[in-house]
Amino acid sequence: MKIVLLGPPGAGKGTLAESLRDTLGLLHISTGDILREEMKNGTPLGKEAKKFVESGGLVPDELVTRLIKNRLENDPKAKKGFLMDGFPRTQKQAEDLDKILKDLNQPVDCTLCLEASVKTVVQRLTGRRVCKQCGALYHMTNKPPKKEGVCDNCGGPLYQRADDNEETIQNRMKVYTESTKPIIEYYKAQGKLRSIDADTDSQTVRTAALKIING
Ligand code: AMP
Repeated sequence: MKIVLLGPPGAGKGTLAESLRDTLGLLHISTGDILREEMKNGTPLGKEAKKFVESGGLVPDELVTRLIKNRLENDPKAKKGFLMDGFPRTQKQAEDLDKILKDLNQPVDCTLCLEASVKTVVQRLTGRRVCKQCGALYHMTNKPPKKEGVCDNCGGPLYQRADDNEETIQNRMKVYTESTKPIIEYYKAQGKLRSIDADTDSQTVRTAALKIING
């Protein structure tokens, strides 16, 4: 199953992907996670991406598309299926993804669009914490760790993403509305778009997603 997750930052794409990947045996591909890893390792790509990520803008299409193409062509786990989180984010990326998958004979099966209000996403993003070691996601009030600042899974330290501050969030929302939201129509025209109310808790979102996926 090849699934694309759409929706504004903070809608819960990463949380849903984390929760479904083991159940469905799919690879979770997050362009944000890949970029943050490149930045942490100080690679040339990471250095190039840094200014865009930190300001809440979009990294140039060709750069992220190259990353995705590489992953889809070379990671054997991707052949079994994937949950794509944070890509595509522009019309050009959506078209390029279709081309890459066409060449691999693995078209997108379904696009799940997580619909969440501005109030919800701002609350989620400002309270979000991430494990530095394993990437597990937490929220100060919605999903606090058992011990403050420490990951339940691996004991790693939790941190707040540099772009999860009010000012950058406003820019990310603007970028979403202008560049990413229009691709909802792209998938709708292909008959592949399914919407989920994401203003609710993660368990309800997971149940709704599984219902769609399992038909
Ligand atoms: P995310 O973890 O999905 O919220 O992504 C964090 C940041 O990484 C975004 O605000 C962008 O700066 C960058 N980014 C992630 N995915 C993409 C993409 N598909 N195209 C361009 N920039 C991206």
